[in-house]
Amino acid sequence: MTVIAGAQMVTPDGVVEDGWLQTDGGRIAALGSGRPPANPGRDLGGRWLVPGFVDLHTHGGGGGSVVGADEAAVRTFVATHRRHGTTSIVASLVTGEYDALEHDVRVLAELTDAGLIAGVHLEGPWISPARKGAHDERALRAPEPAAVDRLLKAGHGTVRMVTLAPELKHGLDAVRAVVAAGAVAAVGHTDATYDVTRQAIDAGATVATHLFNAMAPVHHRDPGPIVALLEDERVTVELILDGVHLHAAIARLVRSAAGPQRIALVTDAMDATDIGDGEYVLGDMAVRVENGVARLVEGGSIAGSTLTMDHAFRFAVQQAGFSVPEAVRATSATPARLLGLDGRTGALAPGLDADLVVLDADLVVDAVMARGEWAP
Ligand SMILES: [Zn+2]
Repeated sequence: MTVIAGAQMVTPDGVVEDGWLQTDGGRIAALGSGRPPANPGRDLGGRWLVPGFVDLHTHGGGGGSVVGADEAAVRTFVATHRRHGTTSIVASLVTGEYDALEHDVRVLAELTDAGLIAGVHLEGPWISPARKGAHDERALRAPEPAAVDRLLKAGHGTVRMVTLAPELKHGLDAVRAVVAAGAVAAVGHTDATYDVTRQAIDAGATVATHLFNAMAPVHHRDPGPIVALLEDERVTVELILDGVHLHAAIARLVRSAAGPQRIALVTDAMDATDIGDGEYVLGDMAVRVENGVARLVEGGSIAGSTLTMDHAFRFAVQQAGFSVPEAVRATSATPARLLGLDGRTGALAPGLDADLVVLDADLVVDAVMARGEWAP
């Protein structure tokens, strides 16, 4: 049992001043304001206490990549992001050949069952060659129903999200198949028109994969996927708030247009995260990181990020016009709901896992607790 007191605590009902929170057996047992029920093990002295971050879209960190599904690398990746406040993390695979993807999905499914990660995200191979970003063009495919079925089955329910381009042959059927399997269909890496994007949403797509990045841009006579995704209340949009993928003004525009409740911050982080500049690979593609910006060696496309969720949280509040509770929602409750984890995590509420982040006045991570244990 741990008792934390003296917190500026962000709960689903708002900010609680002089808040306390008690954990028991890895869960949040009770919370309130004022005098705690027992002597606090930690007095936060007015620091923020917010829910642990939930990251829907990440490829690596700390030198560990999820591609290849090596358990030691995945542990490094999880521990790296945890130090930055992420207590639930989805492993995002990139485009690859089906045999390799099936292998990775099977291993990552076991690591999901073991509680290490929160599920698997397939980003490719069912994406547009015209908007492939850092994905290997040779392995791009149309989402043939048998192949979609094969990878979903390999995950036995742990594939939580699939990013696809709905304009591809079988694209709308693939959206329906993903949703029928209980996963999130996300529109991304797409050259779809406004109308086809609307059809994909009607077919059940509910997420925009890193809105603006790797999709046809907005034109006032040809609004394309971005406007269709932005205007539809059924869609949650991912934003990569590293200051590189999107201008701060675009982040403010999205916050106004969609409302903060429809935004999920993601890192799209690759293995260089927390390591530094140098040469890396993403899937089979050579990547160079310079000044923290990851780009393909060939062609120079942005290749994921070296972002961590605490940095995205700060950017949201300090540059994109989010209040702290809005940033909390975009980094915890909203992604937890999309993943179907909201009965377990994503908020400071009794009965949920004790997944917590302590932030100082500058929103820098001071401490992280996952399932009731302080992270090292
Ligand atoms: Zn990605």
